[in-house]
Amino acid sequence: MKNKIIIAIDGHSSTGKSTAAKQLAAHLHYVYVDTGAMYRAVAFFALSENMIKEDQLDRVALVDQLPSLTIYFKHNPVTDRADVYLNDKNIEKDIRTLEVSNTVSQIAAISEVRAKLVEQQKAMGKEKGIVMDGRDIGSVVFPEAELKIFMTADPEVRAQRRYDELTGRGDHVSYDEVLKNVLERDHIDSTREDSPLVQLPDAKLLDTSHMNREEQFEQLVRWSKEAINKASA
Ligand code: C5P
Repeated sequence: MKNKIIIAIDGHSSTGKSTAAKQLAAHLHYVYVDTGAMYRAVAFFALSENMIKEDQLDRVALVDQLPSLTIYFKHNPVTDRADVYLNDKNIEKDIRTLEVSNTVSQIAAISEVRAKLVEQQKAMGKEKGIVMDGRDIGSVVFPEAELKIFMTADPEVRAQRRYDELTGRGDHVSYDEVLKNVLERDHIDSTREDSPLVQLPDAKLLDTSHMNREEQFEQLVRWSKEAINKASA
């Protein structure tokens, strides 16, 4: 019996992290956790409660409300995916809009928000056998992860992928505004004080600019097998 490990996947926005991580977890029969969805849930909450006016977030009001927020995942048998819930409401569709993407990095920079979500994420990995993707998984949530991966791709490639995804589901957005969002999030996520996105020296680099989904998946499987064998030796 092979030992179960923790696989931490970090990287820039729209690199295909979530899709690849989900596929990998299914292949390994591991749990998959999309931590971006949790930060998006908090951003969605702040937007629905009108805590953001003219780009200005009422940080005090948000921090005050944090203890009342319950964020969790529940398997959706129709899509065979884990949907994100906020206080018992399925908000999976609501968190993928450009409006949420435009506010989420500002919200993810708040230490109180991070502390709450990181605590929950650490608890999810207690049993190992988990693939978690985000920005601080290898650095903060699971610094002890047996396999750490850093995913990136050229910003234009990432923006095109995100644009195709959004327009594919009927959202009216322009390529330029999607590219602007990708670049802005890279900047905020990499320069914030608390848990900035960094490429760790012990993380394997996966640049997906010229890779299709199958190639990404195959590379992840190869690295996972190596790490699992090493942990089981
Ligand atoms: O992964 P996704 O692009 O959905 O993440 C949305 C945002 O949530 C990121 O741009 C980042 O600001 C924040 N995030 C984070 N830490 C994580 C996961 C996401 O700060 N572990």
